[in-house]
Amino acid sequence: MTAAPHISRATGDGRREANAATVLRTVLDHGPVARRTIAQLCGLSPAAVSRQCTDLVRLGLVRELPGLVESRGVGRPQIPIDLNTGTAGEHGTAGPVAGGIHIGVPVSTFGLMDLRGRLLARRHLSHGGPAAGDLPRRVADGMREFLDDSVRGRPLLGVGAALGGWVDPGLGTAVRHDALGWHHRPLAAELARGLGGTEVRIDNHARAIAQSEILFGRPAARRSLVHLFVGNVVDAALGIAGVVHQGPGSGAGDVAHLPVPDSTTPCPCGRTGCLEATVSNTAIALTAAGLGIVPEPDAFLVVDAAAAGDRRADRLLRRRARAVGRAVALLLDVLNPDLVVVTEHSSLLNPAYLEEIRGAAIGLSHVCGDPERIVSPHAGTAALPVAAGTILLNPLFRSPLTTIER
Ligand SMILES: [Zn+2]
Repeated sequence: MTAAPHISRATGDGRREANAATVLRTVLDHGPVARRTIAQLCGLSPAAVSRQCTDLVRLGLVRELPGLVESRGVGRPQIPIDLNTGTAGEHGTAGPVAGGIHIGVPVSTFGLMDLRGRLLARRHLSHGGPAAGDLPRRVADGMREFLDDSVRGRPLLGVGAALGGWVDPGLGTAVRHDALGWHHRPLAAELARGLGGTEVRIDNHARAIAQSEILFGRPAARRSLVHLFVGNVVDAALGIAGVVHQGPGSGAGDVAHLPVPDSTTPCPCGRTGCLEATVSNTAIALTAAGLGIVPEPDAFLVVDAAAAGDRRADRLLRRRARAVGRAVALLLDVLNPDLVVVTEHSSLLNPAYLEEIRGAAIGLSHVCGDPERIVSPHAGTAALPVAAGTILLNPLFRSPLTTIER
């Protein structure tokens, strides 16, 4: 279960907000569900649940499902309620949606999702190579077109944007993104301007995926998790009791230079065996191109080649997976999380690579003997756009009334 919102000494409005969040998250976890069952599940009085449901229906966040009424047992049959994920034309008003943007180095991904974190539409925007200074404008233009095509009359709550590097969500700035050459860039404001004033929230992509696991993924993620992201950049996030840690300046999660046991790969920092230099997509792509496995340094081509039966590509990806697994072992031993979520492209597509990660991690870890604690993101290959949308949805599930009324 998600940690209950902070209720102690709440004022009238604070208590109302906390109760609304409790009801909304209970409906997320158990819907469709009757009001009296919500009261039993979350410990609020039936009267309080009923009041909150009235507010949440009025705000369009939940809806009644009269078609699901069952009259059995004692008492009056109750109309179950669920998150409002309806489309225009169905019973009641259309459910609200959130946009998500993952800003990558060669390509960005747009997504649209409902209140359950389900991806309704997705589109890619290629912007080849390290991007120029006008990338936020181009991304905003692409997103505006995507939203025009996909929202279809549903209320748009706003847009979340996820990217690698050091991001300060409170300030809305990309503090440092080496591959894009961004320093203290006011990204949220730039995207909001390009999207005609739509609310935009940004965060680091590793933290965003961790948050989407907490909100929409496996129950163990709500107790504690470590998320390791392996792409062109390699970074991590830590979540405890439903909260993703940010630390001073929101700098947590920089594992690029974590030393990988048994790696001798040189790193631009001057040392050898750093995690990012050993396992990043960039590193794999350059190695594969150097060996003639792929015509150009592109990690996705390496994964394609392995899937098509290229044994050398497969060996390279297995070797990378085992190096990732050895890094996972270090994280497991330091933090002992209930769950380690690893976002890495080849293991998202082929569970054999996840098994390599698990085997290497369990082989080296001193605290974890259960390979099932190491998993891929619940949203699979949709993890990035779903995580981006979660940046926008997470505050809604914490403070539904003020988030919507604002
Ligand atoms: Zn290094």
